[in-house]
Amino acid sequence: MVQSAVLGFPRIGPNRELKKATEGYWNGKITVDELFKVGKDLRTQNWKLQKEAGVDIIPSNDFSFYDQVLDLSLLFNVIPDRYTKYDLSPIDTLFAMGRGLQRKATETEKAVDVTALEMVKWFDSNYHYVRPTFSKTTQFKLNGQKPVDEFLEAKELGVQTRPVLLGPVSYLFLGKADKDSLDLEPLFLLEQLLPLYAEVLSKLAAAGATEVQIDEPVLVLDLPANAQAAIKKAYTYFGKQSNLPKITLATYFGTVVPNLDAIKGLPVAALHVDFVRAPEQFDEVIAAIGDKQTLSVGIVDGRNIWKNDFKKSSAIVNKAIEKLGADRVVVATSSSLLHTPVDLNNETKLDAEIKGFFSFATQKLDEVVVITKNVSGQDVAAALEANAKSVESRGKSKFIHDSAVKARVASIDEKMSTRSAPFEQRLPEQQKVFNLPLFPTTTIGSFPQTKDIRINRNKFNKGTISAEEYEKFINSEIEKVIRFQEEIGLDVLVHGEPERNDMVQYFGEQINGYAFTVNGWVQSYGSRYVRPPIIVGDLSRPKAMSVKESVYAQSITSKPVKGMLTGPITCLRWSFPRDDVDQKTQAMQLALALRDEVNDLEAAGIKVIQVDEPALREGLPLREGAERSAYYTWAAEAFRVATSGVANKTQIHSHFCYSDLDPNHIKALDADVVSIEFSKKDDANYIAEFKNYPNHIGLGLFDIHSPRIPSKDEFIAKISTILKSYPAEKFWVNPDCGLKTRGWEETRLSLTHMVEAAKYFREQYKN
Ligand code: GLN
Ligand code: ZN
Repeated sequence: MVQSAVLGFPRIGPNRELKKATEGYWNGKITVDELFKVGKDLRTQNWKLQKEAGVDIIPSNDFSFYDQVLDLSLLFNVIPDRYTKYDLSPIDTLFAMGRGLQRKATETEKAVDVTALEMVKWFDSNYHYVRPTFSKTTQFKLNGQKPVDEFLEAKELGVQTRPVLLGPVSYLFLGKADKDSLDLEPLFLLEQLLPLYAEVLSKLAAAGATEVQIDEPVLVLDLPANAQAAIKKAYTYFGKQSNLPKITLATYFGTVVPNLDAIKGLPVAALHVDFVRAPEQFDEVIAAIGDKQTLSVGIVDGRNIWKNDFKKSSAIVNKAIEKLGADRVVVATSSSLLHTPVDLNNETKLDAEIKGFFSFATQKLDEVVVITKNVSGQDVAAALEANAKSVESRGKSKFIHDSAVKARVASIDEKMSTRSAPFEQRLPEQQKVFNLPLFPTTTIGSFPQTKDIRINRNKFNKGTISAEEYEKFINSEIEKVIRFQEEIGLDVLVHGEPERNDMVQYFGEQINGYAFTVNGWVQSYGSRYVRPPIIVGDLSRPKAMSVKESVYAQSITSKPVKGMLTGPITCLRWSFPRDDVDQKTQAMQLALALRDEVNDLEAAGIKVIQVDEPALREGLPLREGAERSAYYTWAAEAFRVATSGVANKTQIHSHFCYSDLDPNHIKALDADVVSIEFSKKDDANYIAEFKNYPNHIGLGLFDIHSPRIPSKDEFIAKISTILKSYPAEKFWVNPDCGLKTRGWEETRLSLTHMVEAAKYFREQYKN
């Protein structure tokens, strides 16, 4: 019998219950028991939902209060000393590692001041994991037994689950050594780590788990030989243990083919692969499956929101059944559903036709079940027919095609994507306009999004305040931010982005071809969720999107104010893209819309324009090779199409964060100034790599995800370290990223200290 499986379900709750609870706990509004209760309720709800949908294989341990990779660091005691010295509870340790912790001493608790661990993008998604950080003193041991507890919790509710664990090789490979242990290669720790995995697995078996899902997503990367060897070693080791649950080795987000040699013949019961992202791997995967192994066919997209095409999917599953027999095939989601919104039924404002194109996590449960029934010969004719109609109607929908947009994309040429002079020539022209001091200071764009801002935005959206009243409010916020920046002495100002709920959605809402959800939240990191807009059809900008706010900000100050835009790649990556045209086409359509905006800003007197591309690296195909170099070329081209229509003296900035960037790819964008997130990248090599970057850079000097306030001396120390290997004349001073998630008090102090540090260095470098 073919079984249906889900690799993971969103944990945030249909109404963001998890966010409210974790933030409530951090702010002291709810107790730890109340927090745990919310977690338990969410898990219960998810298991019941899946059971009622008829899913055969339901995951457990896919829940997390912050991040599933961080959970493992806690479980295996990969906790740097800077956290253990405070004797925090396990959950507070987890949160301190995830987001840093700074608190004053009270009668019962001592003062805590600790920075967060590094946070990195999860493969090519907009989910971020907390990077395991190993040191020479790392002592693996089990802290608690979260996977077992959650398995038992489900069992008590009458739900037999398949626990999910990130595998040992991926866990180590995605980690790093701390700065005092740079010669430590995390994979060397495999031998020490395997017995702990085995212990967890045997505890799961003892608790009644017959199967586990072990994710090794690194198997879709270009793995070095030592990592391939580590895969063989790890799973051979598990194969030798007695009484472990049956293992499904899961990969997703790409093809496993280049690593098939490492997987072939491993003593695992099943292999899960992603046939949505990489259908081309079918024949080779089938050929590599052992004669007793099961293939879990990932066919319902865990990364996008388009309705499944049952006919197409069933054909792929049937092909697998033909080769392997029904008992050795599982119909599954391509990856965890973590990356999709919870429930389409919560969408009240979508056009009915457009809504019919989509399927969110809850609907995907039904999709997995229907496909399973279909390939098992059960009668699902009505569902198939409705599905076929819906798929066909999308192709013909009036929302999709715009011939003027297609023609304009076809007309893009070299001239459109090249600035009229090289950087060396632009720089003196810009210096003349701005006359900036050494170590110019700036911020990345957003300022605290206060409750007041959210309340007024809601009022405006609901129509309880007029457009004029709202504009007045936004202008007063802009003025507050401008005055503050003038007061503390920043050099290049921003307007603070109070009018933007989200840097992609804000623009998407003003671009034709986009659809929006009211509740389509997806976890980005910790308690931060995003609501990606959906690219439904050809994209165009009917009118200026950001000029009014920038012009107002510039009108009330004599300092330069940066116009702030979100770049084409980030707009694309942080939306749910179309699956019926390639991503390059979508990026170019966005680039043209942004080009018009950049030109409008310049024409309106804005002299510095920042086009953010934090998602540049996310679009990167996971594997080296032709597809990747093609991506680099078109991604850079899209950025340059957006930014090359301006005069030499207009200064183009860009910003990147939370990924391992390669200076060469940033170079191809030809921005005059870039800022990158840097405060937690304590790696001298990383600075050295950027030393030869030709244009100007601001290396982020403080962590904006943490409420912690660095002192002036801390900034000075940080800058001194960087200056050892980085030229002062290219050095901009700025935070890691935008400040919208921070409170005003922290922002005020951190930025004040940062500016004081810049002034200190200006003195030092005088003549
Ligand atoms: N300008 C944006 C902001 O400051 C950039 C955010 C980002 O990089 N994610 O909020
Ligand atoms: Zn950023």
